[in-house]
Amino acid sequence: MTGRILLVEDDPTIGEVLTSSLRSHAYEVSWARTGTDGLARAGAGDVDLVLLDLGLPDLDGVEVCRQLRRLQPGCVLVMVTARSAEMDVVVGLEAGADDYLVKPVRLAEFHARIRAHLRRGEAIPAAATVFAVGDLIVDVPRHTVTIAGRHLHLRPKEFDLLASLAARPEVAHSRGQLMSDVWDENWFGSTKTLDVHVAALRRRIHEAAGPGVLVPRIVTVRGHGYRLELPAPDDAGPSA
Ligand code: CA
Repeated sequence: MTGRILLVEDDPTIGEVLTSSLRSHAYEVSWARTGTDGLARAGAGDVDLVLLDLGLPDLDGVEVCRQLRRLQPGCVLVMVTARSAEMDVVVGLEAGADDYLVKPVRLAEFHARIRAHLRRGEAIPAAATVFAVGDLIVDVPRHTVTIAGRHLHLRPKEFDLLASLAARPEVAHSRGQLMSDVWDENWFGSTKTLDVHVAALRRRIHEAAGPGVLVPRIVTVRGHGYRLELPAPDDAGPSA
């Protein structure tokens, strides 16, 4: 698999190792050593995936993350951080990151994650076309989601997750199955990534819903996973 990767990392040793390892896997790599340089490179051309060190010499990593997300709305943004504290991870994910890796990075895991992020749409059966659940329509070939005709702008993994849930509405999907469908069958990372994507989807669905619109909600199935279901008729209003 090929892809354009932007690495933002100030540590010369880590930068050298990751850059040469990525190039040996046939990725096109651009290495920025400061946040400012990273933003300049992200603004200069399309990238498929950004690997962002949060501890940068010039700018706050979370702020860089926010700006990268604006510059490259369609890319996959992975934080690479020495900070494993839950709070930092959550703040980074809320700032627009799709995932995170904690240093020291193990190369096997690193490549598995990148592969998982760059593969697209394999979670969805080839025969699948359009899934309609109430007024929510997930159009797989067009890669669009609408609620009563209004477009939802989703990130790639949010789209895959919603399509997976919408392919079998009213059915409980286990966390493991969703991680495997949307990310990779050999996912090494925390399933916190899944919860963050569910929270983002709930927010976006809630924002797009209006009075009289029949939208499904993502229900937490305790100890198991998630289910996409339409509210009962007497249960008025969108709910997240
Ligand atoms: Ca650093």
